[in-house]
Amino acid sequence: MKKRMWLLLLVIVLAALDVISADHLRIDAASSKFSESSDEDHGPEADAPEEQKRNNGIPPDEVAAIIQEELRLFPIPQSISHPAYQASFEDSWMSERTFGGERGHEGTDIMLDPDERGLFPVLSMTDGVIEKRGWLPQGGYRLGIRSTGGIYYYYAHLYDYAEGTETGAVVAAGQLLGFAGDSGYSNIEGTIGNFPVHLHVGIYYNDAQGMETAVDPYPFLLPLDIVRMDF
Ligand SMILES: [Zn+2]
Repeated sequence: MKKRMWLLLLVIVLAALDVISADHLRIDAASSKFSESSDEDHGPEADAPEEQKRNNGIPPDEVAAIIQEELRLFPIPQSISHPAYQASFEDSWMSERTFGGERGHEGTDIMLDPDERGLFPVLSMTDGVIEKRGWLPQGGYRLGIRSTGGIYYYYAHLYDYAEGTETGAVVAAGQLLGFAGDSGYSNIEGTIGNFPVHLHVGIYYNDAQGMETAVDPYPFLLPLDIVRMDF
């Protein structure tokens, strides 16, 4: 009996230690009803290597400065005629995602209400060139835009693409890229409906060794201006 109580106490202490040592981002993620109930994509063109799973998402100061300067507006506008339409996001950096094997969430999910594919416009946050377009099992219909500063901005789970977003096209900040959707999480191109409609935003840079490294977009998205549009 006594031994069993000691064991119980040990379990409680270990559990407490685990909670204390968990980084705050993970605790945020655990409190998100979306990350508990659903999953989507991640890693722009390939699954993240192990090193990226331990990445804290904070880029070096010089990279952060470039990103801050390049980001001109929030990618989802506010509807003028439907003020109740809402976009919301939280820090879900490295929360668990399971499709295509265990890995951490490399981005920020902008959740959309109403949960209706094809409703919310997606605007380019920066100037740049369309580097990647098309289907990815994790990201669904995605666009990858390379900025002049060399940063890769990744927009995933699109419903469709706007004109002028072919690979190689030059885009300006604020330009319509397409509409938000729920595509992805399948090897079958065109699959939709595996999770709520949202825009997944990823930001990547190449480190000194040329290794593609993910940045947590959350703190960069917070201060961005929201454009008003009619939709
Ligand atoms: Zn995501």
